[in-house]
Amino acid sequence: MQKTRQGSWQWHAVALSMLFYSQLAQALEEITLRLRWVPQYQFAGYYMALEKGFYADAGFDVRIVTPEQGMPGTIEHVLSGGAEFGVANSGIVRERAAGKPLVALAAVGQHAPSVWLVRADSGIASLDDLVGKRLMSIAANHFESIELFAPFLLEGISLDQLKLIPTSYQAQSLINGETDALNAYITNEPFEMMQANVDYRIIRPSAYGVDFYSDILFTTEQQIAEHPERVQAFLQASLKGWRYALEHVDETVNVLHRKYATHRSLEHLRYEAQSFRELINPDVISIGHMNLGRWQHIAQMHREMGLLQGEVDWQQFIYQGPAPNGGVDLRALLSVAAVALFMGLLALWYWRWNARLRYEISERRKAEDLLRMLATTDELTGLANRRNFFGHAVDEFNRANRYTRPLCLLLLDLDWFKQVNDDYGHQMGDQALRQMGQVFKVVLRHSDIAGRIGGEEFAVLLPETELAVAEQVAERLRATVANSTVELPGSAPCQITVSIGVTAFASSDDEFEQMYNRADTALYAAKNNGRDQVQVQT
Ligand code: GH3
Ligand code: MG
Ligand code: MG
Repeated sequence: MQKTRQGSWQWHAVALSMLFYSQLAQALEEITLRLRWVPQYQFAGYYMALEKGFYADAGFDVRIVTPEQGMPGTIEHVLSGGAEFGVANSGIVRERAAGKPLVALAAVGQHAPSVWLVRADSGIASLDDLVGKRLMSIAANHFESIELFAPFLLEGISLDQLKLIPTSYQAQSLINGETDALNAYITNEPFEMMQANVDYRIIRPSAYGVDFYSDILFTTEQQIAEHPERVQAFLQASLKGWRYALEHVDETVNVLHRKYATHRSLEHLRYEAQSFRELINPDVISIGHMNLGRWQHIAQMHREMGLLQGEVDWQQFIYQGPAPNGGVDLRALLSVAAVALFMGLLALWYWRWNARLRYEISERRKAEDLLRMLATTDELTGLANRRNFFGHAVDEFNRANRYTRPLCLLLLDLDWFKQVNDDYGHQMGDQALRQMGQVFKVVLRHSDIAGRIGGEEFAVLLPETELAVAEQVAERLRATVANSTVELPGSAPCQITVSIGVTAFASSDDEFEQMYNRADTALYAAKNNGRDQVQVQT
């Protein structure tokens, strides 16, 4: 008797809770988010939003779907209603220009992970060296890979000079010599090369002035029009997931390893987490931030490659947040009112407003300067990037030539740098490069121009400087490097040296290239002669 009664109470409890849960489940809206690649840390924010219940708190039952390797198709899925949200590459802007009603909600990757990866023993160090070599990649016009090809065009290399072969997406293809260069993610394949103990070199599009957004969370205009609150809430929950993933790396990596990216080792995921953080840059930029100027640059690159026709409706493409109630008319009315109010205040408070406007203009200038700085500066060292340096070089050369003014050029290459990476790790290598940036700042004059022109290769222009002085400057740079150590918390200090080639502008020079070649010959002599030294070529 007692037993039966208890049993019936239990039954009631179960039925009640089933009812409760089914109601709860019903209350959650089913949403599909389609990624653009297999699960990895690249999508950590979305997985953590799911894992930590941020999506559920926002009222969503989210299904995260991943595409087949090499077959993104995410944009089509979202357009056809197969998913409410998607993650795409910055090529989405070209689909927008082609008339597809896509809206970018957030650019999680402030910089794109795509790079060319080559073996260090291949002799390939720059884009020029890739001409005639076998490149594994998806097609040049595929929107997943434009950042890898735009640099060639900027360097004046036509794409039909390239020998493209279908990509395996595997570092192994580089290791066993199936290809000379591989389309890679800075966040992935370098790790695999390190694991295989094969030295590599990275050719970054950003070193050639191509700096694209990546991993754009997007939806459609229709979605925004029909479910504005849903879009806003989903975006906020996703960004919250990203903040969580970046603040709790260990937990995130463990969740990914256990449940989603089960094909990846913990160590691999940690490497990915660390390198992806640099692409998101959360310490400087609020996660997902989008800037019109940068989008326009991306669109312009596509246009120059003949991949983008038509105009982009930027107002529609870049998500503006939830629209105020009442739609366009009320908004127009409000802006008229705002202008009237503004005019009134302008008349009343002329001096105050004037000061404020001045302030705003100066702030905008600062923002523009910052953008310009980012496009022309090497991130790691703070020096001019390759493209910017050569721009300066040609200007200075023309000036020296026209007015017969002295001009010197130094080329620097760190010695045995592969060994530094091997013995102390890539982090130490990067730290050495950073410190090189400091060495130039300390030793050079304000009017000298230093640039990072390749992995561990630097160049310095010394305007209004005679050869004898340039030689002294080079010697001071060499000695400063040789007499300091590279330090990283938790590692033994590391000693590096540098070889330097020096040359001066000669009146018989017609082009900067002639100077460059002489400095290169001098650098080669410095290497051959035992390194850690300065050589001059006249
Ligand atoms: P050498 O004295 O002949 O110049 O020897 P090296 O080892 O420096 O040879 P090389 O110039 O061919 O190789 C440069 C190495 O620099 C290859 C790569 O491992 C490393 N490297 C290039 N770019 C980077 C980078 O951004 N970070 C780090 N850590 N290493 C880099
Ligand atoms: Mg080198
Ligand atoms: Mg070197």
